[in-house]
Amino acid sequence: APSTDRIARPAIPQAAVTQRVVIVGGGTAGWMAAAALARFVPASTRITLIESDAIGTVGVGEATIPGIRLFNQMLGLDEAQFLRATNGSFKLGIRFEGWSGEGSGYLHAFGSIGRGLGLVPFHHYWLRGGGAANPASLWTHMASAQAAMAGRFAPDPGRPDLPSGLAWAYHFDASLYAALLRRHAEGAGVVRVEGKIALVARDATGRIDHVMLEGGHRETGDLFIDCTGFRALLIGETLAEPFDDWSELLPCDRALAVPGERASPLPPYTRAIAHGAGWRWRIPLQHRTGNGLVYDSRHLSDDEAADRLLGALNGEALGDPRLLRFTTGRRRRAWVGNCVALGLAAGFVEPLESTSIHLIQSGIARLLEYWPGSTQQQVEVDAYNRLTETEWLGIRDFLILHYHANARAEPFWTERRAVPLPDSLTARIALFRANGRIQREGDELFAEPAWAQVMIGQGILPVGHHALADALSADELDDFLSLTWRHAAQVASRLPTHDAFLAAHCAAPAQR
Ligand code: FAD
Repeated sequence: APSTDRIARPAIPQAAVTQRVVIVGGGTAGWMAAAALARFVPASTRITLIESDAIGTVGVGEATIPGIRLFNQMLGLDEAQFLRATNGSFKLGIRFEGWSGEGSGYLHAFGSIGRGLGLVPFHHYWLRGGGAANPASLWTHMASAQAAMAGRFAPDPGRPDLPSGLAWAYHFDASLYAALLRRHAEGAGVVRVEGKIALVARDATGRIDHVMLEGGHRETGDLFIDCTGFRALLIGETLAEPFDDWSELLPCDRALAVPGERASPLPPYTRAIAHGAGWRWRIPLQHRTGNGLVYDSRHLSDDEAADRLLGALNGEALGDPRLLRFTTGRRRRAWVGNCVALGLAAGFVEPLESTSIHLIQSGIARLLEYWPGSTQQQVEVDAYNRLTETEWLGIRDFLILHYHANARAEPFWTERRAVPLPDSLTARIALFRANGRIQREGDELFAEPAWAQVMIGQGILPVGHHALADALSADELDDFLSLTWRHAAQVASRLPTHDAFLAAHCAAPAQR
């Protein structure tokens, strides 16, 4: 029998081990981590952020996906104030142009496609109705896509009987977002230290004990968060965690970025336009357009890339193009000992689907879920690393799909079609080609509507459809498809233009 002593005595609360958190790096990753931790960890935890003005930040990262709304909400950031402070705009999706040859295009719009009936996702009804013969018709059933292409935006059409089905994210100025988060974090007690780290010291067990700045300032911590960008000062240089190089699969290794004149009207979507050796982005902000050219340096020189980028601008360049070099891939483990890497220090997949900031956000959410206390065990760190890996691999496959299923003629693109795919992606494509089913692992980021849009948009069309979509009679199917089509059209037609909505609710001071 259990001793009454054991039953009666309450567990003695032990002091949490994580009392001093040191965030190294003050880019988007560092300040997102600082703001979120200041909001959620016990007030007794001392949070310090170290950043070097001399090193600066990567300074790009302007397009997001809808999860960012949750992040801002949990910090208590008001949407309109946030957009005013960051010169931001709304984003309903990404328009991929030229990936199946010049003149081709499709949208990866956020939110659901049509409506599901029971267990079967909408695209199976659309396939049964003959959708594969007219792939572009898929997007006529999607309110976000209709609104995006019409240049319209509001959170809803203002009619309670017409639920919008819209999902949105933002475009924003990354440095202004980091500044906003900094104000928020410092207001919540985060201590900022400016200076360049000269030394990272480990204890006898190999854990990081402290970092030392060039001026001699020393910062000791229980938990270190490596947000040092591509330098990966703690996880890479100090702890030597291996980097899994994905450049065989995602070979673009450079980007040139340049700000350009503001677009008018302001599209509520990002553009990702294929070119002979990669793709270029166009991101509409209230005060300027973010432009960038991503390319494979084996197929395009830096000078040719600069000509290509500047030649494709809409209006004047507002600065000189800035060159960024990178290798796609990730640190094998994001959490090693008492160090967790977030942002570019954890890895980089190119910005094709705007996933990097989301990976910072989910890394933070997972860290909070596995927050180390006095009874922390290695299995928890292992679980964090396993979940992180699954998330990154799902995103990697999704990006490879864009490159693989292309229909362009240049050597870069024919090479992309020929490169062997990871087994996981081969299986996903085969499953979709058969009867339109989408295979996802665990709580992967991209849901069925995203995979379906990119597969169909890039010409992968299923032979059949889910058998349960046959449960409707032919008339019922017609009614259902026309209902979803009319709903999307009605929602889009009732929204104001994106410019009008921004001007009325979220205009940045200089734009008023
Ligand atoms: P950084 O911004 O590089 O910050 C590193 C920090 O570490 C700096 O504060 C620096 O001062 C500090 N630091 C480094 N070494 C030291 C030292 N020794 N001592 C003290 N401090 C130090 N993401 C998206 O979600 N959407 C996009 O559209 C997008 N576009 C991108 C386009 C390109 C070309 C690239 C390369 C990336 C893009 N990203 C995008 C990714 C995005 O930019 C990053 O995920 C995000 O900016 C986070 O960067 P970071 O904070 O990890 O690194």
